[in-house]
Amino acid sequence: MKNALSWWPTLQFHLDAARITDESMTRFRREMTRIRPRLFEGYAGTLVEFADFLERRGLRVPEPAAVASTAAPLTAPVRTRLEAVFGTPVYDEYRASEFGWITGECAQQDGLHVFSDVHRVEVVDGEGFPAAPGELGDLVVTDLRNGVYPLIRYRTGDRGILRAEPCPCGRSLPMMEQPQGRTNDLLHLPDGTALAHHISVMFSDHPESVRLFQVHQHEDYSITVRVVEGEGLDARAHIESAVGELRERTRNEVPVRLDLVDSLPYTGGKTKYIISDVPRS
Ligand SMILES: [Zn+2]
Repeated sequence: MKNALSWWPTLQFHLDAARITDESMTRFRREMTRIRPRLFEGYAGTLVEFADFLERRGLRVPEPAAVASTAAPLTAPVRTRLEAVFGTPVYDEYRASEFGWITGECAQQDGLHVFSDVHRVEVVDGEGFPAAPGELGDLVVTDLRNGVYPLIRYRTGDRGILRAEPCPCGRSLPMMEQPQGRTNDLLHLPDGTALAHHISVMFSDHPESVRLFQVHQHEDYSITVRVVEGEGLDARAHIESAVGELRERTRNEVPVRLDLVDSLPYTGGKTKYIISDVPRS
């Protein structure tokens, strides 16, 4: 129903990521086959789920010109797999509900171009001063288009890194890394120290060993790392070694448990890759 109503004004149709079932995916695939969209955009976890569904049933969809993935790290093996299933390049992007599309990859598929003609993106330290390129800080965005409800130097709650080097593609739009998760989703030690561990890239030495992952810090500071194992050689050993590194970063002050799972729990449609239940003062 929602699809029928929104199709004419927006030329978009949706799969509700909060309630994905075989039935809803069957309907969605039928729509996709009929409408043949040029752009297919989704949360990384949802795209994987839809790709799994197509493979399981031996189905295909018409190839869009591009697939855009958002809301979770797009690891190399996930990208490769999605590209194989959808038969088209898969691009990483970063968006926020308050701003829409803020950055996106070009054909280089290496780093995000900031759409600086419509959004100004800054990375700042704890005091709000600009961080140097290459330094991790809080992402602050200014919307240059919204004349009705201007958002100026608005903290998105995500952490990011700007790049100094221009992209080899020749576009002059500035570059940034894929954001590293929300500031309020950082891991903490019982004494309040925030862990400067790059969770989003914790498996990047052997990305093929992991399909999806999620790090969950519980109220008592203990940490569960949920991993959907990939197909790479020695996947299990690589996963265990990455979790061991995280354990070292916590200085063994909190228990870190590895939980190998078949799929990740959803939170309001998004598969969050860091969840923190630690009470914040
Ligand atoms: Zn580029």
